[in-house]
Amino acid sequence: MKTTELMETSEEYILHTYNRFPIVLEKGDGVYLYDVEGKQYLDFAAGIAVCALGYNYPGYADALKEQIDRLMHVSNLYYNLPMMEAGKKVIAASGMDKVFFTNSGTEAIEGAIKAARKYAFQRDGHAGHEIIAMEHSFHGRSIGALSVTGNAHYREPFEPLMGGVKFAVYNNLDSVRKLITDKTCAIILETVQGEGGIYPADPEFLEGVRELCDDHDIVMILDEIQCGMGRTGHYFAWQGYGVRPDIMTSAKALGCGVPVGAFVMNEKVAEASLKPGDHGTTYGGNPFVCAAVSRVFELFEEHEIIEHVREITPYLEEKLDQLAAEYDCIAARRGKGLMQGLVISGRPVGEVVNRALENGLLVISAGSDVLRLVPPLVITREHVDEMIEKLKKSLSA
Ligand SMILES: *Cc1c(COP(=O)(O)O)cnc(C)c1O
Repeated sequence: MKTTELMETSEEYILHTYNRFPIVLEKGDGVYLYDVEGKQYLDFAAGIAVCALGYNYPGYADALKEQIDRLMHVSNLYYNLPMMEAGKKVIAASGMDKVFFTNSGTEAIEGAIKAARKYAFQRDGHAGHEIIAMEHSFHGRSIGALSVTGNAHYREPFEPLMGGVKFAVYNNLDSVRKLITDKTCAIILETVQGEGGIYPADPEFLEGVRELCDDHDIVMILDEIQCGMGRTGHYFAWQGYGVRPDIMTSAKALGCGVPVGAFVMNEKVAEASLKPGDHGTTYGGNPFVCAAVSRVFELFEEHEIIEHVREITPYLEEKLDQLAAEYDCIAARRGKGLMQGLVISGRPVGEVVNRALENGLLVISAGSDVLRLVPPLVITREHVDEMIEKLKKSLSA
């Protein structure tokens, strides 16, 4: 009863852009969430791959509380200590050269697009450049990010979008090569496609894109917003391929719950792209969010979170493969690390997701038929076992 009333209140005031699940979440602890009725949920969604450390992780909130008492915001007109520290840590983890902090993933994509366009403007002495993006990609909802998102349903109502974008087929190098012209300034792709249905890049594809970019002086942009920050067993998924982007975008788990993103570039692009006056943000990378980013990196190091992901991944994959063998309605498993998808056939994936919720398990979908598992990175084998039990209950007729 309480839940129904609260939902009605919410719908009265909040613009209806989401068909939300019918629960009102109130608190979290470890890898569990609790709704206002006190029901417990094992969380394999992590706020869409954001809460890498789960909830109430020791040492995380302290850093935020201390920073709230000291200084929340100063704008980007002045230097501040948390941004320096967070910047140093992003650069150390990525091995890249310069970072710009944003408020979201979408804004990181906007910045990456602008940097690539400016780079080509410097290169050619004129504007009017093209970008190659991928079908079934997802890069965000603003007009620029939507323009490189390969999903007609998201795009159509808002056309005309930013021009000069062509779409290639993910993991098909020829389809990329065919689209290159002397106007191409960037190739943008997710290292592991998330929203589109959990498709990891083939190593040869990623290497091939790198080579094309080198040959034509094109900026390679890897979107690590969902697959980065330890999720695949590396800080950034491209590190597992040994293929370096020129620009990388991050967000989601970067701050483990505070709104922060980043675009990160190598020296070559930094030298020849955005200069004072070219780009800005009032909030981006303010002391509060950067204190969170710094603490996230510290906790990842101190508690060997990435090593833990590497250790638990084979167990999760084995259990999911067993499940797939056991249930006809699971056609395949795809993924990397703690970013896994089960292809559901013969019934709507939404039905499985809803039943899982009833059974106290939060999972989400991706693409049209994929059940997506992006749990906090701190899950244990016991949590995997519990997830499998709850999923079995949700899959049986
Ligand atoms: C979520 C996501 C975005 C958009 O990030 P927001 O913070 O929602 O703006 C962009 N790219 C990828 C790969 C994502 O998963």
